[in-house]
Amino acid sequence: MGAENLLGLGRAELAAELSLLGAEPLRARQLWHWIYCRGATDFALMTTLGKGLRETLAASFALARPGISRETQSRDGTRKWLLAFADGEEVETVYIPEEDRGTLCVSVQVGCTLNCTFCRTGTQALARNLGPGEIIGQVMIARDALSDWPLPREEGRKGAPARGRDPAALSNLVLMGMGEPLLNYENVAAALKIIMDPEGLAISRRKITLSTAGVVPMMRRCGEELGVSLAVSLHAARDEIRDRLVPLNRKYPIAELLDACRNYPGAKNARRITFEYVMLKGINDSLGDARELLRLIAGIPAKVNLIPFNPWPGAPYECSSEAAIKRFSDILFAAGYSAPVRTPRGRDIEAACGQLKSASARPRARPAA
Ligand code: SAH
Repeated sequence: MGAENLLGLGRAELAAELSLLGAEPLRARQLWHWIYCRGATDFALMTTLGKGLRETLAASFALARPGISRETQSRDGTRKWLLAFADGEEVETVYIPEEDRGTLCVSVQVGCTLNCTFCRTGTQALARNLGPGEIIGQVMIARDALSDWPLPREEGRKGAPARGRDPAALSNLVLMGMGEPLLNYENVAAALKIIMDPEGLAISRRKITLSTAGVVPMMRRCGEELGVSLAVSLHAARDEIRDRLVPLNRKYPIAELLDACRNYPGAKNARRITFEYVMLKGINDSLGDARELLRLIAGIPAKVNLIPFNPWPGAPYECSSEAAIKRFSDILFAAGYSAPVRTPRGRDIEAACGQLKSASARPRARPAA
């Protein structure tokens, strides 16, 4: 039976559905509250709604989360879910707890079209985009697993954080899982607007980072409409190297990408752009590369995130040595940039960057380089 899933409908769409049922606008606001503040999954328990309306809703709609195909927890506390959607497609979602915050890394596509040669998802064909409800569903699954919903009696005043919840449990969101967010922009934007709504999942845009391989024509709109922080997968300071690592560079080369970064709405010191740079032995990790990188990003309020390459079976690269990474980061640091080396988390459960790959994924034949 195909009950329509309400997860993923924005406020206006939800109100429209309810007015079709003859319910007044207040009911739509109450329903929103049940779904996104309380994490309700069962209409029958929505006690602020009349019994008749609850029954009507239950007859025509669902509040379905994705199914959990597999769940693993790392020794360092990182958790990973393999989630299955109604059509059987699967993606992975990773939760990374730290002392002062908890970050959820969500996927936006099943597979990817970009073919970055060091990325494991790049070996999978794109099956499809995720819809807004499927992106939001990943956040709801994490909240469920962390028991991060307020109990009814713990609810504070409207807008006040509910007592009993740990605000650091799931405080940050990164769009750094499978897929390219700016190639599924409409659905990502619809999902983020719901996720950022202060009454509901309420993750502020300041705590959300969207990572892109550099889909230049979509960057301005993303900044203007969503205002989230931007991370850019730069990975190389010269076009000839970046063409090989991130083939999208042939379409939008480094100079154009950096222009889009300079013009990213809201890029200022308080909201620096993060440049991600994967450390690949003998490919992009020399002193010359570091200097070239500095020259490129001069004038852009930026930080650089150095990511040790996470190898996967058959990967055509190796991770740079610790000494090379240290040398690289020292050069950036001496020039005044914050250049932390990202500590791999959840390595024992293959949850680290670039490791996300669903068991059911169809490998794509890669032409010999
Ligand atoms: N498509 C987006 C987001 C997904 S990838 C993007 O390209 O930014 C998130 C980050 O992980 C990107 O910076 C990506 O380049 C990096 N990454 C992918 N595979 C990796 C690997 N094997 N080791 C280290 N980082 C990797």
